[in-house]
Amino acid sequence: MSYSEILARVVAAVRTAGRPDGSVKLIAVSKVQPLDRVRAVLEAGHRLFGENYVQEAAGKWPDLRVEFGRIDVHMIGPLQTNKAKLAVELFDAIHTVDRPSLAEKLARLAQDRGASPDLFVQVNTGREPQKAGILPEDADAFIARCRALDLPIHGLMCIPPEDEDSSAHFAILAEMARRNGLSGLSMGMSADFEAAIAAGATHIRVGSAIFGARTYA
Ligand SMILES: *Cc1c(COP(=O)(O)O)cnc(C)c1O
Repeated sequence: MSYSEILARVVAAVRTAGRPDGSVKLIAVSKVQPLDRVRAVLEAGHRLFGENYVQEAAGKWPDLRVEFGRIDVHMIGPLQTNKAKLAVELFDAIHTVDRPSLAEKLARLAQDRGASPDLFVQVNTGREPQKAGILPEDADAFIARCRALDLPIHGLMCIPPEDEDSSAHFAILAEMARRNGLSGLSMGMSADFEAAIAAGATHIRVGSAIFGARTYA
């Protein structure tokens, strides 16, 4: 397990960037990982995980929370509107608010429950047609719309294109957050989390570097 190695690299990157200790949250992305690997990271004391699929998370975390106590689980995958109810019951944060219909659904659920997970707006900084996320030029208006719905928007999230330098995308996201008065920045994965920390990430989402390669069934 390279969990301790990754933790050490995060601490080092935070210090190199001249940022305070503890200012970056490491989300261990456990989607499709075997349960024994997830347990090993829980046993090492980690309590913040990321999942991409509502159904998979619903089958895993309720039991692990009974066994290990409080665990924060963040939704980082695309969220279908018809799974939003289950998602707000299960997750402490949702990083993938990316369209008006989902924002409206989350607002209705927040009204009904009197509570909402922390929310991040996903921005498609690379304007990739196959990728989710609001387009950069629509982001400011969408954030305003979410706020008008009383949604607790904590920050922005992006997944840079695979074949481009991530740093440019991290800088775009950071500037967009700054001008909208948002403090949260969910950016950086196994291959580029140190660059994301240098660019101001508050939440990094690291999967394979902690758990090993994913094998999809
Ligand atoms: C799977 C996933 C990750 C983790 O990716 P790794 O390259 O394994 O670190 C991070 N963010 C999102 C949105 C993902 O879907």
